[in-house]
Amino acid sequence: MEHLKVSTAQRIVLESVATLGNESIALQQSLGRVLSESILANRDLPPYDVSAMDGFAVRSADLTSMPVILKIVEDIRAGDMPTVTVQAGQCSRIMTGAPMPQGADAVIQVEDTQQVSSDTVQIDKTVAIGNHVRSRGENMKLGEVVLPKGGEITPGVIGVLATVKATHVQVYRRPRVAILSTGNELEAMHEPVDPNKIPDSNTYALMAQVQALGIEPALLGIARDDPAELEQYLLRGLEYDVLLVSGGTSVGVHDYVRPTIEKLNVSMKFWRVAMKPGHPLAFGTTGKTAVFGLPGNPVSSMVCFEQFVAPALRRMMGNPRLYRRTVTARLAHPARTRPGRTEFIRVQLTQDDAGYLASSTGTQSSGALLSMARADGLLIMPTAGASLAKGDLVTVQLLDGTAFQNNAGFKE
Ligand code: AMP
Ligand code: MG
Repeated sequence: MEHLKVSTAQRIVLESVATLGNESIALQQSLGRVLSESILANRDLPPYDVSAMDGFAVRSADLTSMPVILKIVEDIRAGDMPTVTVQAGQCSRIMTGAPMPQGADAVIQVEDTQQVSSDTVQIDKTVAIGNHVRSRGENMKLGEVVLPKGGEITPGVIGVLATVKATHVQVYRRPRVAILSTGNELEAMHEPVDPNKIPDSNTYALMAQVQALGIEPALLGIARDDPAELEQYLLRGLEYDVLLVSGGTSVGVHDYVRPTIEKLNVSMKFWRVAMKPGHPLAFGTTGKTAVFGLPGNPVSSMVCFEQFVAPALRRMMGNPRLYRRTVTARLAHPARTRPGRTEFIRVQLTQDDAGYLASSTGTQSSGALLSMARADGLLIMPTAGASLAKGDLVTVQLLDGTAFQNNAGFKE
């Protein structure tokens, strides 16, 4: 089978997974989920014209020649309902959020006034109709869609949901994900250190990548390179919506994942993607379970997760934003890749006045997990290969942890 381009393989994966059904959850538990219903405003907000400032509700027509002295006829606090109509030559003292009284059409803020006596105020400024007035329904109007279906629930969205009294919301279900490591050489976390073994890190790195999407995966453990044992583990994994198997997907004589998966009626869509790291990447589906055969090399499995598994999981959760954000950066040093494979180079990002600067985190060996641990992003080198100079512009896919930076990043 030919080696697919990353974008082709992504398309095949995304065509093979569908958004899951929905469930109702409490507002307090909904952060990070995706709305499977549109949310409508349950009233006008504000419910009437209100003042946006502490000051005086006035008739703008009164304020033509300065200064003007107005009689204060009422004191309106937030939560009060005004009872007195403001007549010519009059005003009402009003607080932020309090309803506008009849007769008044503008608010003058207290800083632009001088109290003359207990019931009179001098005003030194003219004012336009509607000044510092928030009109009824300005924030939301009864029946209008305030949050469309498919939106991710962020803290701001939670605020809107609370505003419309959505104590429970319909969201897309999260996929059930199982993680399986394979290899005779692997040492489980609970086993004592054996100098001849390789610690199983993939289980935990993949676990964390899944958790970062808001999903708690099931850890199936380590299957030895034995077809019968592997089959038992894979059967358990096929009870989930998504099964991530790492290792054993290559073409070595002890790489049993491929034949065993096929034996279990997983219809394989591809085995090879033209990318580095991440070369032996398999994907198939039973119709119920999407199966990813990820490379055993720790960096490769993580990079493949970001390119293929994360978009698939996000689609299943109904999120239209499938891909990690990319930014343009300048190269801090030359970079060269050979043609034939899309290369993902682990980089650190710093920022200066000209924008982002990307520098390699060190050896790019697919086993060099430390270079992944230090990475802010993956610099994407084109499949055609490239010889780039210091300062050339490149595309960097941001990884977790890049939403925050060391300095504020703006000047005032
Ligand atoms: P494989 O894809 O099975 O040929 O494995 C490729 C390389 O990745 C080998 O050096 C394995 O020891 C290593 N490897 C495989 N699985 C894991 C794992 N779960 N944790 C750490 N390294 C692994
Ligand atoms: Mg192996």
